[in-house]
Amino acid sequence: MIALTIAGSDSGGGAGIQADIKTFQEHGVFGTSALTALTAQNTCGVHDVMAVTAQFLGNQLRAVLEDFSVKAIKTGMLVNAALMKEVAHHVQTLQVPLVVDPVMIAKGGEHLMEDEAVETLRNVMLPLATVCTPNIPEAERLTGKKITSYADMKRAAHQLLSLGVQCVVMKGGHLHEKAATDYVFMQSGEVFALETPRIDTKQTHGTGCTFSAAVTAQLAKGKTVRQAIIEAKKYIHLAIAYPLHIGHGYGPTNHFA
Ligand code: PLP
Repeated sequence: MIALTIAGSDSGGGAGIQADIKTFQEHGVFGTSALTALTAQNTCGVHDVMAVTAQFLGNQLRAVLEDFSVKAIKTGMLVNAALMKEVAHHVQTLQVPLVVDPVMIAKGGEHLMEDEAVETLRNVMLPLATVCTPNIPEAERLTGKKITSYADMKRAAHQLLSLGVQCVVMKGGHLHEKAATDYVFMQSGEVFALETPRIDTKQTHGTGCTFSAAVTAQLAKGKTVRQAIIEAKKYIHLAIAYPLHIGHGYGPTNHFA
C-alpha cells in the first residue's frame, strides 16, 4: 500500500514529513512525499522556514502521481495560497481519500501558514477533503468563531461540513478538560466521540501530524473513514503515553509505540 504526504520538513524529525513517513512505515504503508517547505527546527522551536515554489511542488506531485498507485493522500503545512492551489490542481481529479490537517501555527507560536491563506484553505482545500482534522485554534480560524464548548465544536464542524468536507475530526485537546475527547462529525449526520484519558506531558511535538498520518495510512489500507479514525486515535494515544524524552523542549511523540 502506498500513501502520499504533501507537507513541510521538520529537521527535528518529530513533525511534518518526517512524522508522516515514520507513521506510514509503522502502519506497513510505503510513504511518498511532496515537500512544501523546509524548516530549521528542533524540539525548542522553529528557527527558519523556506517554502518551495508552486512549480517545484507541482513537479514533485507529478513525479509521484505518474509512477505510484497512491491509495491515500494527506496534506499538512501548506504555507501559502499558491501552494494550496497547486495541490488542489493535482489532487482534485483523483479518486483517492484526502486527509487535510489544517496546519497553521506550531506549538511554539511560529506561523507555518500565511494568514491570508486561510480563505484558500477553506474554499479550495476543504471541499476536496475526505477528512479534516482541526484542533480548536485551527477550527476557530477556519470558522471565524470562538470555541469553548461542545455546542461550539458542533456548530464549527457543521460549518466545515457545509463546505463539502466528508468528515470533521474536531480535536478537543486544547479545551483543557479531564479527558482528551475528540468529536467526529460525518456528512451523513453520524457523530461519535473518541475519548482517552488526558496525559499530562510536554512530549507532544508532532501530535497533529502523526494522528492525521495514521488516519491516512489506515485509509490507504482500505479501512473505512470511521475505522481509520478510531485506529489512529489508539495509535496517537500510545505515541503520547510512551514518550521518548529526546531534545530539550517539547519532545516528539513516539512513533514506535
Ligand atoms: N513543523 C512542521 C513541518 C509541521 O508540519 C508542524 C505541524 O503540523 C509543526 C512543525 C508543528 O508541530 P507542533 O505544533 O506539534 O510542535
